Amino acid sequence: MSGAPVRWSRPSRLDDPLELPAGKLADGMESLGLRTVGELLEHLPRDSREARTVAALRAGEQATVAVWVRAIGAKSVRRAGMRPLVEATVFDGTGSMRAMFFNQPWLVQRYQPGTRLVLRGKADDRGGFRVSHHASGSDAALNGSSGEDGSGSGGAEHSSVTDIPGDTVGFAETGVVVAHYPAVVGVTSTQILTLMRSARGALGDVPEALPAATRVSEGLPDRASALAAMHFPRNREDLEMGRVRLAFEELLLMQLAFLRRRAGRSSRQATPRMGAAHVLDERPSLSERWLQSGLPFVLTGDQRRVIETIRGDLEQPHAMQRLLMGEVGSGKTVVALYAMLRAVEHGCQAALMAPTETLAEQHFATLQQLIGVEPVAGALLTGSTPARRRKDILGKLASGELSLIVGTHALIEPDVKFRTLAVAVIDEQHRFGVRQRVALGEGNPARGGGISPHPPHMLHMTATPIPRTLALARYGDLEMSALRELPSGRQVIDTRAVAGEVARARAYELLREQLRAGRQGYVVCPLIDEAQAPTAGEDQSEARAHGPEGWVGQRAATAELKRLTEGELEGYELMLLHGGMRTREKQEAMAAFASGKADVLVATTVIEVGIDVPNATVMLVENAERFGISQLHQLRGRVGRGEHRATCLLMGSHPTSPGAARLRALVEHSDGFRLAEIDLGLRKEGELVGTRQSGLGQFEVACLPQDALLLERARARAETIVAVDPALQAPEHELLGDALERKFGAEAFEPIWA
Ligand code: ADP
Ligand code: MG
Repeated sequence: MSGAPVRWSRPSRLDDPLELPAGKLADGMESLGLRTVGELLEHLPRDSREARTVAALRAGEQATVAVWVRAIGAKSVRRAGMRPLVEATVFDGTGSMRAMFFNQPWLVQRYQPGTRLVLRGKADDRGGFRVSHHASGSDAALNGSSGEDGSGSGGAEHSSVTDIPGDTVGFAETGVVVAHYPAVVGVTSTQILTLMRSARGALGDVPEALPAATRVSEGLPDRASALAAMHFPRNREDLEMGRVRLAFEELLLMQLAFLRRRAGRSSRQATPRMGAAHVLDERPSLSERWLQSGLPFVLTGDQRRVIETIRGDLEQPHAMQRLLMGEVGSGKTVVALYAMLRAVEHGCQAALMAPTETLAEQHFATLQQLIGVEPVAGALLTGSTPARRRKDILGKLASGELSLIVGTHALIEPDVKFRTLAVAVIDEQHRFGVRQRVALGEGNPARGGGISPHPPHMLHMTATPIPRTLALARYGDLEMSALRELPSGRQVIDTRAVAGEVARARAYELLREQLRAGRQGYVVCPLIDEAQAPTAGEDQSEARAHGPEGWVGQRAATAELKRLTEGELEGYELMLLHGGMRTREKQEAMAAFASGKADVLVATTVIEVGIDVPNATVMLVENAERFGISQLHQLRGRVGRGEHRATCLLMGSHPTSPGAARLRALVEHSDGFRLAEIDLGLRKEGELVGTRQSGLGQFEVACLPQDALLLERARARAETIVAVDPALQAPEHELLGDALERKFGAEAFEPIWA
């Protein structure tokens, strides 16, 4: 009976309101959204602080120490306006020092010699320690002691400290762990901890969402113990044990939500109104002919495998939701076209949506070329399609006369209606908002006036390789495929990290050699001009985060162009390209470079996309240590697109800087997936940029990529659970279902679109 779930609707202390005197504290707790005992117990400490030894303190550094008081006294304050000072001699097993408390004369009485203290503050270089937060040893939280955090009056602060048994805090010399709650106006971390202590008895009522079997096989404590360990840790291990347990639950719920969405999609086969897909299972005709004789090249093994998988997906009665990852040039378009032709040969329609007009145009051209002689009625629809042409296209989409359409957002405008959209491909799906993806995914019936009741099969494509950890956290409900193998004939780009003046001179020599041989090259700079803020785009924020000293000393494209024209590259034709130029100017520069009129393109990262000049064989990246791994990888993909051997020179100035590890990764690896994994591994907590987009910052307790293994465990467990009980209706899963609904609401049952 002990394993049986206890329904959490039983009368519980968790629902009791917190009893607080009206005033600052009550208001503060209200602003934290903490009204009941249960809510309080779920309010987790933001971080915890591990103590240093006195001997290990370094001047100027914030640190926490656990010490004893040897002597304490008030310093006389001579001048008016000087803050009253309490000085204590404190010590631990490694040494002693002078601790200084400001503005709190009463501490002389409170912290008698022999008192155990946890202090947070900064060591100065004269053996002093300026205390900013303090707590007596039997108290597991730190008091804010400066006047700035809302506790300056001292009175409220004072009264919130209660004596508790010493055994709630461990007392190893180091390893004293102190729960720390983010302070808000009116509430200090100490006050929260004090309330937490009085609520501790209610921990026994905390519902246990994890089935006993799961807890046992994962070796995890129950929820109540985990919360206790977080709020009242005895040591670091304790805390980590509690954190892991809560993180596991968090990750498990997320994966359950993903997998149930997926299961929900496939269980809707019964009625077309609920979203059954077009079943594309007729014997291949057009697509087969095309694969056999229409292709100008032999498919790679990866391409063949993914095509097979997609063929299987399309035969299912529920809509495909597949993410296809493959670097630029890996040949995703062929795979997409296969899916589209499957739709066409069933008399249905297919659409491909790209994020920019240029990309849409390129896709359309590639598709036309790939389709070859096969008779497929296709069209291109973008924002600049003339009104009359647009009208014509819309008419033919509605009538079904057009089988295949390529376009931009223009494809999802309300008046665009398909007759039978069976396959929708979204290129660079991350560049579209969820709404836009859904809009295309819904086909048209949801928008009214549509004829087909079926949602299309969806293929999402991205050139950004995503490590598995990230993919699980972000796209856990999509099936995934990858093209890792580059089409044959693609070469590995000789990549070198270059540091120092001698090596730099040699780099220019290499560039000139190539130019003399008739090749072309790129020089990439992080800035447009010297007086300028970084060039626009999210990648710069990444670069900025990687660079500790801002943008000083970074090369700018405009200045480099001038310098090189008069210096190392004198006599060659140089052309400028950056995001600050007008569209027209940019097009002219690109055309000049593509035609071979210019030898060298001096550019910012705008060349990352859309430039394909097979004759370019050298790329020189300035301040390379400032760029992220994926960005450098994308950049270097601009060379080596032709028959000639290509080189990428990464100019870095600090061989020991954190950026150097990234450069080394690029030198050693050419596989984008491998690089993405290395990148994730190199990034540390706090260094993750754009975590929101990356999907890593979405957790309350879990911390990725550090918890990658835990995520894998949670995923595997979620798969097991959903396999046997997708609706979570078995008695042992009921509380898990409750937790899922509390966390995600009804949304847990909705499909998501990447
Ligand atoms: P991406 O994955 O960047 O979209 P594309 O599908 O545009 O790549 O393919 C890049 C180029 O490689 C195209 O010109 C395409 O025709 C060609 N290509 C694709 N697959 C192969 C292959 N198996 N062998 C040779 N060339 C290929
Ligand atoms: Mg492409």
